[in-house]
Amino acid sequence: MCIRDRILDHYRDPRHRAPVSHADVEAEEFNPFCGDRVTLQFRLDGQGRVVEASAQSEGCSIIQASASMLADIALGMSVAELESLDELFRAMMQNGLAAEGGDHRLGDLHSLQVVRQFPVRIKCALLPWTALAEGIKEFRSKNS
Ligand code: ZN
Repeated sequence: MCIRDRILDHYRDPRHRAPVSHADVEAEEFNPFCGDRVTLQFRLDGQGRVVEASAQSEGCSIIQASASMLADIALGMSVAELESLDELFRAMMQNGLAAEGGDHRLGDLHSLQVVRQFPVRIKCALLPWTALAEGIKEFRSKNS
């Protein structure tokens, strides 16, 4: 599947749209400039790994694809792993992929690198990740 197709695939057929009840990590973000909105929810199991994920997004194709890919890849991850994924993804969006080694960890998210050609849209790709960081911050403050 080519890069563009991968983005369109997640846009047309977004994963994990159903809300999660009793979410442990959850946040909502809104970008008034293009009307993008996302609600991200994760439920963790006893080991602290994501067992249920939900990404409900509205707006452009970029945010919807990014939210869907994030929810998809998050399953099975710990909060610490989500944080390092967040770092990796932001680094890719800011600087491109420096090392080939990062590719497989990012999975489909790798395809969002094309958005770097359209700097105003980088915000769209990052909105679900802002929600992730916000949700984790709140989760940590409640569980420390
Ligand atoms: Zn957008």
